[in-house]
This record gives sequence, C-alpha cells and structure tokens, in this order.
Amino acid sequence: MVLDHDVRMLEKNNIIVTTLEKIWNWGRAHSFWPLSYGCNCCPIEMMASGAARFDIARYGYEVFRASPRQADLLIVAGPVTVKMKPVVQRVYLQMPEPKWVLAMGNCAISGGPFKDGYSVLPGCDTFLPVDVYVPGCPPRPEALFHGLLELKAKVLGQR
Ligand code: SF4
Repeated sequence: MVLDHDVRMLEKNNIIVTTLEKIWNWGRAHSFWPLSYGCNCCPIEMMASGAARFDIARYGYEVFRASPRQADLLIVAGPVTVKMKPVVQRVYLQMPEPKWVLAMGNCAISGGPFKDGYSVLPGCDTFLPVDVYVPGCPPRPEALFHGLLELKAKVLGQR
C-alpha cells in the first residue's frame, strides 16, 4: 500500500526516480545504430527490413551508418571468409564502446552450407564476441527484429 501511495505521488508530481545507468541503457537499447555491412544473401533480408513493408524504423534501429566510428551494432549478415576476417575484425575494433554483435544467418553462426569449404570460417564467434544469434538461411526480417528485441532486453539488463 505504501508503494502504491508513493507511485501515485510520483505520477501526480511528474517525478521519475531512476539511475543514470538505467537511462543510458534505455537510450542505447532503443536506438541501435547498425553498421552497413553484409556479404552474400542474408544482407538482402537485412535491407528488406529497412524497407516500407517491414520498417525497422518502428523500433528506432533504422540509422544504418557507413562508418564504424558512428555505429554501435555490427550485424554480421552472411559468411565471413578467411580473407575477410581481418577486415571485419578491424571494422569491429574501430567501433566505439559500448558495442554489440548480432550474427544473422547460418553462415554467420556456423559457416552454414559453406562450413566444409576451405575459405569460410565456422562462425563469426570464432573471433567476435557475439551477443545474439539469429538462425535461418536466410532469416526473414521478422527474425532479425526478434533478434534485435532480444538484444534490447540484454542491453536493458546490462550493468
Ligand atoms: S545463411 Fe543462407 S541466406 Fe544467409 S548468407 Fe548463408 S547461404 Fe546465404
């Protein structure tokens, strides 16, 4: 009952009590700036997620950046080859903290249909700290949104 009374008083006086940490995480979780990166077919689904039919802007995640220095989310869409590994690694290192990685599609998760090949890595988590995995070949935009909402929940609980 005491809590109810306190909440009513806060609402009445337009006062919100929270911590800086919660405000920071709230802002970060509602405005990811993904890097414009992709390789192979999964990025087509990623691009479709930004188009009118799916509209990633509904979640506030539509600001795809061309520079890693302005991005805080690396969506690894598609396979990473041995040749591309140092490039992706460098791009990740150029992103400022805090930053997150989402592996989109079976290729990014495990090498997918190319896992037995000589040129594709068995997953980007062999050299990147992946936060969320979105399986599928390719995953639909709705699956990408689900992954982004999982990441959002993770960031909201981040300390
Ligand atoms: S997971 Fe499937 S759709 Fe995605 S890049 Fe690999 S082969 Fe293409």
